[in-house]
Amino acid sequence: NTSANATPHITLIGAGLAGALLATLLARAGWRVDVYEKRGDPRLKGYQGGRSINLALAERGRHALRLAGADEAVMAQAVMMRGRMVHFLDGRTDLQRYGRDDSEVIWSVHRGELNLILLQIAQDAGANLHFHRGLSGVDFDARIARFRDDRDGSEHEVGFDSLVGADGAGSALRAAMGEVADLGERTEFLGHSYKELEIPPARDGGFSIEPNALHIWPRGRYMCIALPNDERTFTVTLFLPNQGDPSFETIRDGADARALFQRDFADALPLIPELERDFERNPAGLLATLYLERWHLDDRAVLLGDAAHAMVPFHGQGMNCAFEDCVALAERLLAGGDRGDAFAAFQRQRLPSARAIQAMALENYLEMRDRVDDDDYLLQRALERELAQRHPERFMPRYAMVTFHRMPYEVAFDRGQRQRELLVELTRGHDSLDSLDWDAVDATVRARLDPLPADA
Ligand code: FAD
Repeated sequence: NTSANATPHITLIGAGLAGALLATLLARAGWRVDVYEKRGDPRLKGYQGGRSINLALAERGRHALRLAGADEAVMAQAVMMRGRMVHFLDGRTDLQRYGRDDSEVIWSVHRGELNLILLQIAQDAGANLHFHRGLSGVDFDARIARFRDDRDGSEHEVGFDSLVGADGAGSALRAAMGEVADLGERTEFLGHSYKELEIPPARDGGFSIEPNALHIWPRGRYMCIALPNDERTFTVTLFLPNQGDPSFETIRDGADARALFQRDFADALPLIPELERDFERNPAGLLATLYLERWHLDDRAVLLGDAAHAMVPFHGQGMNCAFEDCVALAERLLAGGDRGDAFAAFQRQRLPSARAIQAMALENYLEMRDRVDDDDYLLQRALERELAQRHPERFMPRYAMVTFHRMPYEVAFDRGQRQRELLVELTRGHDSLDSLDWDAVDATVRARLDPLPADA
């Protein structure tokens, strides 16, 4: 029960990235935590899927991992990415640094390894993990959740005080909540999908291309990216439209994929020996943004992470944002008081943040696939770097605000918009920075941008 002197209890749905992290934060604070996960325990059988899929970890995520005591273990297998290595059509490459120096970088982490580490830490903190328990229905009046065991089809009923939905983009808890309340749910499909391929280690066992970078092959309406893994492989992700040419409609099998790579990603082709097999074996993943108006049902259920706000992956922030959600929700819950109020306050704080990063993630797709090799863009980026140096207290590239700092996403979004207007205005009619009137530029920056918030 939630009465003041009893040990509080909470039931989490999903032991993925957010579920395991939130379980740790609450169990460490003395809460009784039960976590129900649809799949089997990956610590017993190895991570399902078997493929190396990696994610970019940034400061927001690392901050949450530090609070959970997980940062050190995670960082031990992370690979530093200093910037984008852009691969042009003619084979030239160019490293565009993300930050000022090696203190401003992102980290490639193995999704499976990360999940294993977080599950172990959650269990060590005292959380009860229940595997093969897929949420199949909820009686919110009786506060009973039903779980199905996929091994034998058996059903299990469990009473709860409150449910937290950390069960990802296809959340079963969200579906159950949607049956009793209008969550204002809307999904916008991007019209593009992705497929994962692999670059194995080089003959000598090392990385076959620069390891400390996120590689991008921008090609206008589509692109490829590659992130390093600590076992010296790279996970390549091919993003293509669902329709048009080329698209997943025209690139249907391994031979089509080879022809596309020969034409558009020629320097990547020799690095992916199993291109045909990977392309035919791996499923194409859909990309969409999920918007909800409501994330909670009074004190009985709340959603976070992808279950509340799945986004397209182009800012590499979905997990980072989900981890920030966990910290915010844990803070609200640990402050005590009415749980319904805590859930409402969590939603008020995090819904605008989620909306902002969802919008920035969509914008970043255009930027990554289409603009990183464009002259106007490069001039604006050069001015951006210059202004960040001349006015560090007022001007910070949006990428840095999102990636290396923890100011609310909506603050980064708003400042980023104002900065972009300035960059466009100040570079209009110029081919290089040499012809700018720097006194006028400095005065404009001072007049138009207030000092950055303290966290920056
Ligand atoms: P998940 O990690 O999806 O976990 C959900 C868990 O719930 C799973 O374990 C699942 O088995 C379980 N579950 C599902 N249904 C049920 C049920 N009915 N009952 C019980 N359990 C259930 N983010 C980044 O920060 N950086 C990146 O570089 C990045 N790259 C990405 C690349 C791609 C191609 C994609 C698709 C996403 C990427 N993301 C990235 C986003 C990131 O993967 C998600 O935001 C993150 O996994 C969300 O965590 P979560 O815990 O909310 O959901």
